[in-house]
Amino acid sequence: MAADQPTVLVVEDEAAQREVLRYNLETEGFRVAAAGNGEEALVMMEEEHPDVVVLDWMLPNLSGIEVCRQLKTRSGTRSVPVIMLSARSEEVDRVRGLETGADDYVVKPYSLRELMARVRAQLRRARPASAGLKLEYEDIVLDSETHRVTRDGQELKLGPTEFRLLSTFMEKPGRVWSREQLLDRVWGRDIYVDTRTVDVHIGRLRKALGAHGGTDPLRTVRGAGYALG
Ligand code: CA
Repeated sequence: MAADQPTVLVVEDEAAQREVLRYNLETEGFRVAAAGNGEEALVMMEEEHPDVVVLDWMLPNLSGIEVCRQLKTRSGTRSVPVIMLSARSEEVDRVRGLETGADDYVVKPYSLRELMARVRAQLRRARPASAGLKLEYEDIVLDSETHRVTRDGQELKLGPTEFRLLSTFMEKPGRVWSREQLLDRVWGRDIYVDTRTVDVHIGRLRKALGAHGGTDPLRTVRGAGYALG
């Protein structure tokens, strides 16, 4: 399983529906984390760092609306897109759902094809590199489909880890990534790698980016991690 495979968190209390979603999302090539209630979903946000959340409105105890509201008020989870699922089709509910900060809203019974398309659309917005798009930052161009990187028109030679590091940075220029976050995103959370390994690969990435000259676009943020620009 590729470490940079996008993760979708499914929050649904009905086991059968949860498994249908899991099966279909996995078939689409996503890694799936599943929670059966809101409390569990909030814990999994911290542990799994999903790229998109598919959230059922009707959950026991903590409702989907409340989960969404909490995700959208926390700085660590605010930017993760949330697609709300609901049996309610009244316009007033739809508005209420979007007011809590949900990025999209799908009414049950939904077509799985449509839901998958909406998940992909949210992902393209949140993680363009994993959707096979071309990313640009200043004179650097990264093509996630062909795995080619150029700087000022000249091709750069990057190892697979350096490529994944660079695409992570280029998805969110300016964002500071801690070593732990880079480990999760680039190496995958199941693999034990020392945080110093991150520094080694950052060094290699810097060297590759400077192969034909140009200033170092990576910034070391003391005590915090690394950022592009
Ligand atoms: Ca439900």
